[in-house]
Amino acid sequence: MEHGKVTEDLVRLMQATDYAARQHVGQRRKGERAEPYVNHLTEVATLLAETTGGNDPVLVMGGLLHDTIEDTGVTFDDLRQRFGPEVAALVVEVTDDKSLPKAERKRLQVETTPHKSRRAKLLKIADKTSNLRGLVTSPPTGWTRERLRDYVDWAEAVVRSCRGLNAALDAAFDRAHAEAWARFNA
Ligand code: ZN
Repeated sequence: MEHGKVTEDLVRLMQATDYAARQHVGQRRKGERAEPYVNHLTEVATLLAETTGGNDPVLVMGGLLHDTIEDTGVTFDDLRQRFGPEVAALVVEVTDDKSLPKAERKRLQVETTPHKSRRAKLLKIADKTSNLRGLVTSPPTGWTRERLRDYVDWAEAVVRSCRGLNAALDAAFDRAHAEAWARFNA
């Protein structure tokens, strides 16, 4: 990279980071450490940036913004205006229908993810990797071992439905999964 040159993509990535941090302000992760929610978003985006060699800014922006529609007041049109139609469409693809019961939403992720775009699949794998890491470093208080194990199994089922596109990302998931599995099945 040329020194002293801030590219247009970098500016847009920083804008997406700033926007995501503002939209999720006040939200915390479920775990006992109650980490700021934005840590999850930057972890997912970093995983995507690293495993795709920095070649897909739309995917990385999608990683930063992937929970905005689901968990904040942001709409598809807001994202389209600020970050363009590709980013907005990607976020919609990974957004659950919150009018459905939780169990149904989880079942649908396993069923529908194999039919989604390449970017949506990569984003799902990065999301589940971050969530499994979070379960190990900061398990949610009040979750039984059975609930933790169920989450680990479900995350694996979602990733099994869409893996095989990026070996580095699959490997990152496998490491997180192996650690979580060992922890909660010991
Ligand atoms: Zn997420």
